[in-house]
Amino acid sequence: MEKVDIGKKVLSANEAYALKNSQLLAQHGTPCFNLISSPGSGKTTLLVRTITDLTGTLRIGVIEGDIQTDIDAQRIRAAKAPAVQINTEGGCHLSAAQVSRALKELPLDRLDMVLIENVGNLVCPAAFELGEHGKIVVLSVPEGDDKPAKYPGIFAKSRVLLINKIDLLQGGAQVDFDLQRAKVDARRLNKSIEIFPVSAKTGEGMQDWYAWLTGQIRR
Ligand code: MG
Ligand code: ZN
Repeated sequence: MEKVDIGKKVLSANEAYALKNSQLLAQHGTPCFNLISSPGSGKTTLLVRTITDLTGTLRIGVIEGDIQTDIDAQRIRAAKAPAVQINTEGGCHLSAAQVSRALKELPLDRLDMVLIENVGNLVCPAAFELGEHGKIVVLSVPEGDDKPAKYPGIFAKSRVLLINKIDLLQGGAQVDFDLQRAKVDARRLNKSIEIFPVSAKTGEGMQDWYAWLTGQIRR
């Protein structure tokens, strides 16, 4: 019984910060998206390529969530975008309070968009609202096409599914990944989800993703 009560309190404190974050972002007219995936799906590589390819089109600021280190924030800064690193010190998801502190360090008036890279984890980041305008789930080909079926929560809640590393589907690589199955399973959970198969490595499919992303600031 007590456990349930504590859980409710934690969630409502998080929701209060999430509301504050969404109000701050709205004041600045800055859309914000929350990228969620397993470790190793290529989120940071995707972000670096997106920032680089959209230089001069979209000014993106990044909040990097990791358990330890600022390796990912350094990679983002090397692509010449402002990045704030949050180390969760063992925590397996970002909280809205952590994002609230990070947002204060970003030059929101000089940004068109904020992208949050959540801690690598397909489960609990789905349950913690950060004040974002939408969640983006990244699934990479080596993880398998069964992930939407096995982790329905995040696929049901996301605006966009990026299927990354599609370069591995070609050239006779020994990867069993049925693109159609992943798409059908994701759409079964979420009729309106936008799906972009991409390779952040070769650039394949990235233009469709960029069109969606830039479309979010013209609304
Ligand atoms: Mg990363
Ligand atoms: Zn967690």
